[in-house]
Amino acid sequence: MKEFTYTRAADTGSVLAALAERPGVALLAGGTELLNWLKEGIEAPDHLIDIGGLPLYDIEETADGGLRIGALQKMADVARHPDVVRRFPALARSLLLAASPQLRNMATLGGNLQQRTRCPYFRAETGALPCNKRTPGSGCAALAAGAEDTAALFGWTEECVATHPSDMAVALAALDATVVVCGPGGTERRVPADAFHLTPQEAPVQRHTVLRDDELITAVEVPGTAWPSAYVKVRERASYEFALVSAAALVDLADDGTLRAARVALGGVAHKPWVLDGITPLVAGLRPADTAALHAAVGPLFEEARPPAGEGFKADLARRATVRALRDAAAVREGDR
Ligand SMILES: Cc1cc2nc3c(=O)[nH]c(=O)nc-3n(C[C@H](O)[C@H](O)[C@H](O)COP(=O)(O)OP(=O)(O)OC[C@H]3O[C@@H](n4cnc5c(N)ncnc54)[C@H](O)[C@@H]3O)c2cc1C
Repeated sequence: MKEFTYTRAADTGSVLAALAERPGVALLAGGTELLNWLKEGIEAPDHLIDIGGLPLYDIEETADGGLRIGALQKMADVARHPDVVRRFPALARSLLLAASPQLRNMATLGGNLQQRTRCPYFRAETGALPCNKRTPGSGCAALAAGAEDTAALFGWTEECVATHPSDMAVALAALDATVVVCGPGGTERRVPADAFHLTPQEAPVQRHTVLRDDELITAVEVPGTAWPSAYVKVRERASYEFALVSAAALVDLADDGTLRAARVALGGVAHKPWVLDGITPLVAGLRPADTAALHAAVGPLFEEARPPAGEGFKADLARRATVRALRDAAAVREGDR
């Protein structure tokens, strides 16, 4: 591991100044991702700034009845915050189903958004395998291997078939949340959660998110909504595992219990949370418990789902997760919110 210097930041201004002034600076929040990168050779900074002391811990109500959550909040604390549990069950569940209790106690929301793909070729120690994200121009070993479980269904290119692993990002995209970032001179920028991560179709594969090198994530804002929500995670073992696919759903129910509108984002299928545009007209008027009708209705949204190789089992899994998330969201009772 390359040697680096370390300081603890006392205020946001000094962090922004350091990011703007010198190259080779990395920010340390909970450290659960960054330390792996240092060991695996994914990052080799000259200088580490520990941002744990910055005042980015508040959880406060916004004017529209939503919540503003500081970027340094721990995943475990947000997952059990009473307002989050009651009003945004998809967010609470996405955090609770992620990683392990020890990791959730250390890991922050900002770090969760900035985590990198779990594609095994990207993560290979010392970058020994072809990966365009890791070594530009070296190729995509994942595409050549044709392993469908870790590959994207949407938004991939011949250059990169990786998916983004954050569970929380999927819930935030479904909830129409905003990532608040701060840049040079303290200028604030607000990015819709579903536009924060980048697919290789949108940007060079080495870029993971829209966050610039001189910016800091300061908060996540979830708008006030009365729609019930749910998060479903499908994985190869029941805990401590990344999603094969996941689905976060919000539903608007008519008085007779049928669906009036829905919003769904998928995880594990692209290098960003994949929002299922156009779902409302397909499911409007259906009963959430009529899963056969829902399966048929959402089918067209998966016709474009194109795995690089394999049998296409993930597209079927994603469709099933979508239906289950819609049904689970509708089952969240009025009194629970
Ligand atoms: C074994 C294991 C299993 C996991 N399983 C899951 C899972 O199932 N689901 C899931 O969603 N995640 C999972 N994770 C990922 C975990 O959630 C992340 O490691 C964690 O959220 C990162 O947060 P951190 O505070 O530790 O980030 P750090 O490691 O401190 O930082 C990670 C990156 O984020 C940047 N960063 C941190 N905060 C900010 C900020 N405020 N502004 C700008 N940049 C910032 C850092 O500079 C660094 O580049 C897993 C991790 C491990 C190690």
